[in-house]
Amino acid sequence: MTDPDCIFCKIVAGELAAEKVDEDEHTISFMDINPWTRGHALVIPKNHHKNLYEVDPEDLAHTAKAAQRLALRARDALGADGVNLLNSCEPAAWQTVFHLHVHVIPRYDDDPLRLPGQPQEPAEGELAAVAAELRG
Ligand code: 5GP
Ligand code: ZN
Repeated sequence: MTDPDCIFCKIVAGELAAEKVDEDEHTISFMDINPWTRGHALVIPKNHHKNLYEVDPEDLAHTAKAAQRLALRARDALGADGVNLLNSCEPAAWQTVFHLHVHVIPRYDDDPLRLPGQPQEPAEGELAAVAAELRG
C-alpha cells in the first residue's frame, strides 16, 4: 500500500531522507522538517492511507501506540513538560500531506505555542442541537 507521488511513502521506502527516531513493523516516526517546538516528530503508518477518514482501524491503533511511545520519550529524553498530539484531516483542518500522520509536539512550560482558536460560549440550545445531529 504505497502511493508513488506521496513524500511520506518515499520516506518509508528510504527514497527521501528523514531524521528517523522510531520504527516498528507497522510505523515509522521522524522529525518534522519545520518543527513547532524542539523534538516535534511525525508518526506515520508504513501503509499509505490518505487520512483519518480512510485509515483502517489496525493501522490507526499502531500509529496511536507509536505516538504514545514518542510522547513518553519526549518527556524522559527531552525533558518535555507536556505533549500535544495533532492530526489534521482534510485541508479545512490544515492537512497538507495526504498520508495519515500524527504530530507529536513536545511542550515546554516556556514555549511560544498558543491555542489557535478561542473557546466560544455556545448559544442557548446549541450544544443539545448539535449533539442530536451527531447522534444521528
Ligand atoms: P499537516 O499540515 O499535513 O498536518 O502536516 C504535514 C507536516 O509535514 C508539516 O508539519 C511539515 O512541516 C511536514 N513535512 C512536509 N514535508 C516534509 C518532508 O519532506 N520531510 C519531513 N520530515 N517533514 C515534512
Ligand atoms: Zn503515502
